[in-house]
Amino acid sequence: MSILLVPVGEIDKKVIERLQVDLVKIFNKQVEAGQGMPHPDYAYNKKRNQYLSTAILKTLKEQKKYMAYGKVLGIVDQDLYVPELNFVFGEASQKAAVISITRLRQEFYHLPQDQSLFHKRGLTEAVHELGHTHGLGHCRNPRCVMFFSNTLMDTDRKGSEFCPECKSKLPTGK
Ligand SMILES: [Zn+2]
Ligand SMILES: [Zn+2]
Repeated sequence: MSILLVPVGEIDKKVIERLQVDLVKIFNKQVEAGQGMPHPDYAYNKKRNQYLSTAILKTLKEQKKYMAYGKVLGIVDQDLYVPELNFVFGEASQKAAVISITRLRQEFYHLPQDQSLFHKRGLTEAVHELGHTHGLGHCRNPRCVMFFSNTLMDTDRKGSEFCPECKSKLPTGK
């Protein structure tokens, strides 16, 4: 079963290409880049100036052409939220997940651009959410990719690798 990457709205092609190359190595599965979905106007919350991740996830799951794949990961360049939290890096439900790359850029925090850090963070969030779609929950090991990221500091500390315990729980054993 392969993994499908779906750009939601305008996404830098390089982001998708890098994820494709890196995710193949990590999950040892075919990773394809799918046709994009339109900008998620339906998920916009004017009061918060953010997009409801659950609404985007629902729309992804409604696309039969996507759901024919093993796992589906939507990539958004909008700030995401769920009602209980100030923001989320991503959300997963069953075999589908969505991540936002907006807060992964140094520029978001008024810091100088760092492309390699940006891609590294994108990979970490992608692996985390795809981990959920593979049935993994959150891990207590702060160095494991399945550790819950409250802040970008958590994301940067943990990196994109599974701890041995989580790795052993992945269906392929990889
Ligand atoms: Zn999580
Ligand atoms: Zn773990």
